[in-house]
Order: sequence, then C-alpha cells, then structure tokens
Amino acid sequence: MKHIEDIYSRISRNSASFLGYPLAKDFNYTAFAPFLNLCINNVGDPESPSTLAIDTKDTEQKVISFFADILSSNINDVWGYVTNGGTEGNLYGLYLARESFDNPIVYYSESTHYSVKKNLHLLNLNSIVVRSQANGELDYDDLESLIQLHRHRPAILFLNIGTTMTEAVDNIDNVKDIIRKYAIKDYYIHCDAAFLGCIAPFVDPKPKFDFAEGIDSISISGHKFIGGPIPCGIVLTKRKHRNRIVNSVSYVGTLDTTITGSRNGLTPLFLWSFIEKHGKKGLTVRARKCQEVAAYTETKLKQIGVKAWRNNDALTVVLDKPSAGLCKKYQLASEGDIAHIICVPGIEKKHIDTFIEDYKKELLVAEVFA
Ligand SMILES: *Cc1c(COP(=O)(O)O)cnc(C)c1O
Repeated sequence: MKHIEDIYSRISRNSASFLGYPLAKDFNYTAFAPFLNLCINNVGDPESPSTLAIDTKDTEQKVISFFADILSSNINDVWGYVTNGGTEGNLYGLYLARESFDNPIVYYSESTHYSVKKNLHLLNLNSIVVRSQANGELDYDDLESLIQLHRHRPAILFLNIGTTMTEAVDNIDNVKDIIRKYAIKDYYIHCDAAFLGCIAPFVDPKPKFDFAEGIDSISISGHKFIGGPIPCGIVLTKRKHRNRIVNSVSYVGTLDTTITGSRNGLTPLFLWSFIEKHGKKGLTVRARKCQEVAAYTETKLKQIGVKAWRNNDALTVVLDKPSAGLCKKYQLASEGDIAHIICVPGIEKKHIDTFIEDYKKELLVAEVFA
C-alpha cells in the first residue's frame, strides 16, 4: 500500500517541524497496537455499564478521578467523561448551563476559541462578546457594564484558562466580584482550559480556575499537553448538573448523558497510561521543562531583535508575525500581525535554535535590501 506509506511519511515529516500548535509530540503508544484489531466502544454514561460489554469505562473512570483530584475535587462531587476534544467539552458545559436556567446570557471574551460561537449557535443561546485586554485577558470593566445592563437575566460566564492565541488566563476573582456587586443570583461558570488544564494545577503561582473556586464545569483537551494520535479531552461538571439531564436509553441499556452515543474507548487507555507513567510529579516536571524552553525562546527572539512576550510563565511565546515562508515552514498560527510558538513537550532548545537561525537569515537579507 504505497499510498499509506506516503501519508505516513508526510505526517511524520510535518509533525517533526511544527512549532505553532499546542500538541505534545513526545508520546509512543505502540504497545496499544493490538487494540486496533478490536471493536471498542464506551457508548453512554461512563459510570453505567452497557449491554454492549466491549468498553474501557473502568479505565475512563480512573482518568476522570485523576482529573477531579488535580482540579481540587473528587468523584463524589463531580462527574465527567472522556470527550473527543476541548470543543465537545465546551459544548457540553454550555449545554448543562443552558439547562440550568430560563433565558440566560452567555458572556465570553473576543479572545475565545472560534468553536465557541458555533457551539452557542447550535444551542441557540443568547450571548454577548466581551472586549479583551491587549494580553488576551477579559476586559473586566467591559464585562461589568454588560452584566449591569442585563442584571435581571441569569449569567453564564465562559472563562478562558489559557486563550488559544496568547495563553491568557481570565481572573475568576474579578469575575466573582462583579457577580457579587450586581447581586446576580443565577449564574454558571464554565472554564475552557483546553491547553492549560493539564498544566495550571502544577505551576507556581497556580492560577485560580478549578472546583475550589466554585466553578460549575471545565473542559480540557487530552491531545494537547498530554498528547496522542487521536484527539480527545476531558469534561468535568458538578454532579447536580449532570443529574439534571440524565436520561435512560433501553436500546443500549445505559444512561445517555454524553453528547455522542458511541464513544472512543482507546483514548481513555492512552490517557491512563500517561497518568500511570507520569502522575502529578511527572506533570510538574513536564510543565517546568516547557516553561524553560519558552523562556529560552523569548530570550533568543529578543536577542535577534524580534519583539516577543509571554503572559507570566506561559508556554506560548507571542511574536511579531514573521514572513509567510517561515510561518509555513514551522506551521506557525497567526492572527493579525502576531504569531506564536508553543513550547510543548517534544519541542527542545535545538528546534528553537534552528528556527532562530532561519529567522536571522531572513533579517540579514532584509537588511541588505533595505
Ligand atoms: C484547542 C482549544 C480549543 C478546542 O479544543 P479541541 O480539543 O481542538 O476541540 C478550545 N479552546 C481553547 C482555548 C483551545 O486552545
């Protein structure tokens, strides 16, 4: 099958060179190859067995329990499942929020991931876009005036714990102050921690974003900081929200609490093997190492005269958008006149050095022709 070989070599070549997306590259799941010849399906609620007994729900529950723990809770208070990615977790959180109130408004910043708008459309939810500050964080003054204006309606606060472009973290204390100030009785806080959810619990100072802060739900991507060949994620919510929508389905003999029917049974195995191997200690070291590479990247860029910055100790280095050629070669995502390098596991100083050398050459050429 020549065709398959071509696809494989294209992806492995391109995967080695990208610097601009938050996808860890340092995994190896070869040991799971035998599973590729099996039907595996986690259809329905992860806690409820199905008549179809070809699932990995026990493992899925262990994954959820680990995430509940690192998000300052436990499986008695929160419930969750392994999703197909951050987008599904956000959709699920917004769905639960919608089911909690009559006629709510969703507030989200203009730096929010593009998929959220579509989710709101699917759910037919009213929403307001809140301005962002230059670093990508919510503009709290704008949020305050909007909430004041709509203080009679339930508020769904969609917060970013690490925006896609600049890894900015919305400040939950500021948001809670506004809710209190206008005595908003009915509110729901969902955190989009697609990238930072596996990092934020392990950095110092730790941002405030988890169940200790009273959040209602949170979505995290599994294929970003942990990494893997198949997109996946984790969604966690207070149990009371899940219980509100619970629905039993006799055909598969399980509870229909998730968005899709059939669900991936392989990704919980990948996530659990990572957790078993690394644990909290390993994640702490992993985050620390990436922060070091990010600091190195920022310094190196500045040394060659390129404007670069980071939000606190972020893994995302924001830089002035380089030439189209460089953006293409290193698969750098850009927005307006900025681009970013995301220092995920698998990206090392030597990769940054190669990029810097390329960038230096371009600057020299530009000088010659100036
Ligand atoms: C990546 C990302 C998403 C989408 O997650 P997927 O896993 O790609 O569906 C949502 N929000 C933020 C902030 C992200 O970085």
